[in-house]
This record gives sequence, C-alpha cells and structure tokens, in this order.
Amino acid sequence: MKTQLSQIKKYRNSLTQYSRYKSCEVKIGDIPLGGNNPIRIQSMTTTDTMNTIATVEQTIRMVKAGCEYVRITAPSINEAKNLEAIKKELKLRGYKVPLIADIHFTPNAAEMAARIVEKVRVNPGNYVDKKKFDLIEYTDAEYKEEIERIRERFTPLVKICKEYGTAMRIGTNHGSLSDRIMSRYGDTPLGMVESALEFLRICEDENYHNIVLSMKASNPQVMVQAYRLLINKMEAEGMNYPLHLGVTEAGGGEDGRIKSALGIGALLEDGIGDTIRVSLTEDPEFEAPVAISIANRYKGRENHIQIKEIKESPIDPFVYNRRKSFEVLSIGGSNVPRVVADYSNRKVSSQKDLIDIGYTYDERTDKWNLSDIAADLIYLGKNILSFDCPNGLKAIYDFETWKYLENNYNSYPIFTVNEYFITDKKSNELNFVSININDLSDNLTKKILNDNTIVLILETNNLHGMAEQRRVFFELIEKEITNPVIIKRTYTNITFEDLQLYSSTDLGALLIDGFGDGVWLSVNDLKSEAEKSGTYIKSFVKKSETTEKVINRLLFNILQAARQRISKTEYIACPSCGRTLFDLQQTTEMIRKRTEHLKGVKIAIMGCIVNGPGEMADADYGYVGSGVDKITLYREKNIVRRNIPAKNAVDELIDLIQEGGDWVEP
Ligand code: SF4
Repeated sequence: MKTQLSQIKKYRNSLTQYSRYKSCEVKIGDIPLGGNNPIRIQSMTTTDTMNTIATVEQTIRMVKAGCEYVRITAPSINEAKNLEAIKKELKLRGYKVPLIADIHFTPNAAEMAARIVEKVRVNPGNYVDKKKFDLIEYTDAEYKEEIERIRERFTPLVKICKEYGTAMRIGTNHGSLSDRIMSRYGDTPLGMVESALEFLRICEDENYHNIVLSMKASNPQVMVQAYRLLINKMEAEGMNYPLHLGVTEAGGGEDGRIKSALGIGALLEDGIGDTIRVSLTEDPEFEAPVAISIANRYKGRENHIQIKEIKESPIDPFVYNRRKSFEVLSIGGSNVPRVVADYSNRKVSSQKDLIDIGYTYDERTDKWNLSDIAADLIYLGKNILSFDCPNGLKAIYDFETWKYLENNYNSYPIFTVNEYFITDKKSNELNFVSININDLSDNLTKKILNDNTIVLILETNNLHGMAEQRRVFFELIEKEITNPVIIKRTYTNITFEDLQLYSSTDLGALLIDGFGDGVWLSVNDLKSEAEKSGTYIKSFVKKSETTEKVINRLLFNILQAARQRISKTEYIACPSCGRTLFDLQQTTEMIRKRTEHLKGVKIAIMGCIVNGPGEMADADYGYVGSGVDKITLYREKNIVRRNIPAKNAVDELIDLIQEGGDWVEP
C-alpha cells in the first residue's frame, strides 16, 4: 500500500536531495533542450510580425540579453510566411537563434511555419477549436468523436514537423482550455494535463517525439500542481518529455517578477524544468535577466548539505491543503500568514521609525494608523522600544532582553532550544522558539506537544533550504505537532533584485503547499543593481527606502502571489505580442494608478480579443483590445461594453467597477 501511495504522488526524483529530473533531449535548431542540457532561457517578441526589421532588431536585443530561443507570434498565414524574411534577415546579420512560431487557432499558419522555423507552439485549448465558453454534456461517444476530429486536423502538422525536423511545444494555458476539456474536467490542473495528453497521444501514435510541454497559469499554485501532475501522468504512460516553465499573465514590475520566481522556482527546486520564460508586461529584453537569475541558482545545488531522505510525502502534491495548526494570539489556525518585520539591526528612536512597516503615529490624537501592509510582528532582538508597541503589532525580543523588560506590554520572548529547556520564566500567552532541522529531538517534541503557547520559528542554513524546511514540516505532520510555524530565511550580501526572486521561491514554494503561518526575512547588506546602464536589469527600490520598508512590501507581495493573503489589487496582464493594438505597458500603468487601492479586486488587461478573454483566468474585470483604438470591457467572462473608444476606456472601466459595487474612494 505504501509503495502504491508514493507512486501515486511521484513527480520528482527526491523530496530532499536536489537533482534535475531527467527528460529526453529534444532538438531545436543548434540548441538542444532537455536531457543533460542546461536550463534554457527564452522569450517572445512584442513587435508586429509583419514588420520584419522591427522584429529582427528586437530579436537581436533579446539574444544579447540572454535569450537562447525567440518566439514570434504567427496568428495567420501572412505572419507565418513572413517568418522566412525574419529568419533570412537574422542570418544576414549573423544570428542563428532558433525561432519558435506561436500559433493559436489556425492549422494552415502552423503548417506553413513548421516548414520555416525550428519549433512551433500550439495551444491545445484553441488549436482547431474556437472557444465559445459553452458547457456541453458529452457522451463518451461524442467525446471520442471530438478527439477524432482533432486527430484529423492535427496530424498533418505532426507529419510536417517530423519531415522538417521541427520541434513542437504543446502549451496548455489554464485560462484557455477547450470547451470539451472544461465540460469534462473543469478548469483544473487535471483538465490542463488531459488537454496536453490528448495532443501528445496523437504525436506518439505518429512516432513523433520532438516535443516540449508546458502547463501555464497566472496562479502559481495551479501552475505548480499542473506540472507535477503532468510528470506523474507522463510517467504512468512511459513518457518523459522536457518541460517549458512559465507563469502566464504575471504582469510587470515587482509583482511579475515575484509571481514568476514563485511558480518557476517552486518547480526548479524539485529539479523540474528544462527551459523557462519569465513573461512580464515590459519590453521582452527585460525578461531574460530575470530568468537567468532564477535559473543560475541551481548551478551546483546538488552539493548541498545532505537532508535525511523521506520515503513518502504526507501531503497530496496535486491539491492545496493548508497544514493544520492551532491559534496562538492570532498566529496560526485559520488566520492569514503573519508578517514579521526584522528591526534587530535598526535603532528605533521614535514612533516615526515604524512608518516603514505600515504604522503611522498621529501625535495630536495619540493614535496609530495602519496601512494595508502593516506588519503583524516586529523582531527587536536586543533593541528596546521607548514607547508602547502599537495595538496590532506584537514585539519579539531575545529572551535575555525580554526577561528584564520594565514594560513588557505586547512583548514576547524568542528562545533558542537550549534556553527553552532551562528557562523558568516564559510568557503565559505567547513564546517563540527558534529551531532548525536538527532540533526536533524526542525531548523537544514532547515539550512542545504540551505547550500551547509556542510558535516555532523555522530557520535553515542549507543551500537547499526550501527542501530542508519542507522536510521539517513533513516531520511535524508525522509527529502531529500542530503549533504554528513562521518560516524564516536569512540572506547576506545580496542585491535586492536577487533577494526578490530568491525569497519568492524559498517562501512561496512552501506557502503554495500549505506550509507556514508566517514569514520572516532577515537580510544583511542589501544592495541594489539600480539600473546599471547597458543592462536589462530593472530595480524597484527607491534610494530613499529603508531595507525594512522594502522587505515588508516584498513579504506582503509574496503572500499575495501565493494567494495566501490579499492586501492590494491583483493585475493579470498579458505580456503583449504582435497582436496587441495598444500600448499595453502604458495602459496597465494608467489603470494601476487609478485602481491600486481596490484591495482584492482582480483586473485583467489583455492585448487582444482573440486570446485575451480566454486567458484572463479568474479576473473580476477585463480590459481587452478589440480593434484599432477599440476596447471591450468584461465583468468576469461576460462582455459588458463592446468596442468603446480607447480614449474613454479607463473611465468606463472605473464606471463598471463602481456599478459592480467593488469601488471604494482612494
Ligand atoms: S492576449 Fe496578449 S499576448 Fe496573448 S495573443 Fe493576445 S495580445 Fe498576444
């Protein structure tokens, strides 16, 4: 029974020892993918494919930024044909980068492109099918008939790819599953996997294996579960095709980077993924450096300190379930994960110092105002506050400091394991104990099990830290220890740009598996790359911002990206491509400025009406380009204002949000 269970959950080599999950090698021009090849970096142009020179020049900029493959949209036969001119011009300029044609609905464009470029990408949700958002009850016979229809239309493309040595990506998107799949499986990870497998089985029947697969979603949790399930199902059918990882419609700026690092990184941590694309609502040159930074972390990762192997995961890796914990003073239980601000290296001389973590003091009324991203706990170490901690904020002191506090209102001690064993003084309500993987002895387990005031602070020094911390969570579940756990990570001498990506992966990968009742980052020597000229690295730190402020914002953003705690408006923006008929970056910025105070509202900004509505996922409102200077507005999946002039569209979107009852004044 035990082997059976672990087989059911299998989706990576090991839960503790890092190694790349071995896929088969696929040939894409001169740059092979999968097998023992490094994790490849790729991106997609945003120019009009019919504009040869603009597309060639953007492709060259992308290659210079680090792209090893470049994808170009080919929505119709004309664009597909023009790929030839683009390829020729690139060759003339000395570039042999493999090109990938991005196909949506049209088999004839795909069949043309497959004769020209090194790889084609088809979306099984809309290749051949036009999506009508209809829920149809299929009998088994009708369903089979549909598959046969797909087989008939898809097989010619497979044969051309085989003949020309062209690779293919079968790229499923959570937001654009076919009506057939939606009717039978819903918009679930299983639906995404089945959608790809339907096409994959046709390829296998034709003995065509130059295939790459992807399972993208704008929700990193769904995306991670879908990739895991895909591997599991492929293994069951004896397949191991390489995987292309990406979080779709991630948006831009900090949010886009955090969501991407969370989703992509969570899989890379388990050795899953052969190529990655970070999609941002920015010029595509800015995507590769982010992807490179995410991928480079795994060079040499296999040399990490050994972690005791675990035979079987106590959780279902394909379904989200939060680890059960009891509540201690609003930490754990059903509370959202808490945010700890680390002020142990900063002297707090007045109330003003807490503005950076969301607390503004009004001297006149002697009241505190809290922002939407006000931290819940503040770790002061040995620094003593000279004023009462605001309500809503709990202070954590090192035990030796706490023990002698004159005023310990709202203040609680943190113990090392040793101190916890020998102390005769504790708080009656809340105590923190700092542990790592080596501390969970039988004695400690026994002591914690009898102490309902304890919140554990889980730390790690392991290079493979996420896996080590996950191992501790597994052990806690096995030992039935249900004390809340705050995940703490420490980074030293790091740039903000790397911190943003690394911490999103390290904390996010645990959060999306339901682990963690709080998050804490301790950072020493934070630097910023700050837009060095000639690079495509963007910085989001202002010179005036303190480390504490930057980290507080980062932690709330990670919780939001992991869908664990919503503190602001969520934007789902496509990265734009040759189909986009308006300036997507500028429009996203305009919409963001007017709506960023609408906590919890999800707004999608999509470049085109062809794919936009399908890919808006679970947005509450959609702003979708539907022609030159024309925008169509959606409430959920329904059109509410069609083809309105672009110049009024943002105002009308605000109107719509007001009508929908989701508006509040800034
Ligand atoms: S939704 Fe955006 S990225 Fe996707 S096809 Fe349309 S314009 Fe291109």
